[in-house]
Amino acid sequence: MKRDERKRKKELLEKMPYTKDQLNELSISDLKMLASILSINSWQKTKDQLVEVIVENVDNQKGLDLIDERSEEFCEMCGKYVAIRQGAHIVGENDRSRINILKLCPSCHNMFDTRLKPRLHNALKAAGVTNLPESWAKSIHIQAIEASWKSPKRIKPTN
Ligand SMILES: [Zn+2]
Repeated sequence: MKRDERKRKKELLEKMPYTKDQLNELSISDLKMLASILSINSWQKTKDQLVEVIVENVDNQKGLDLIDERSEEFCEMCGKYVAIRQGAHIVGENDRSRINILKLCPSCHNMFDTRLKPRLHNALKAAGVTNLPESWAKSIHIQAIEASWKSPKRIKPTN
């Protein structure tokens, strides 16, 4: 997808959800883009048909802006377009639901887990925020070292 298409897609996403009147003011190419974002088949549909089918679907897609950004190849921290993105847990204790995952380039993933989380934890704690995720308190490197201390020691084979 071209850069200007991405930009338009983002603009369209930001204005969601649309009313029928707002949809009627959009161009057919915008409507087709919205249809594709919503996984609606726009093949051979007229403008009126597209408006109808989008208005039926658009209210059910409140979380879509978040989801759709993940289908693009940019790192959600530095904004660079990268070949490889990793799924980073925001709150380590929680599951891999979409709301808890950031798509990051390897470098930002490392910074997020080793620097940003502990820094945010300390700053938020100092600001009086309570119930912060325990996984943010320490760099994942420290957590890994501590986990290795806790794990049972391997018994050496006796031969
Ligand atoms: Zn990045």
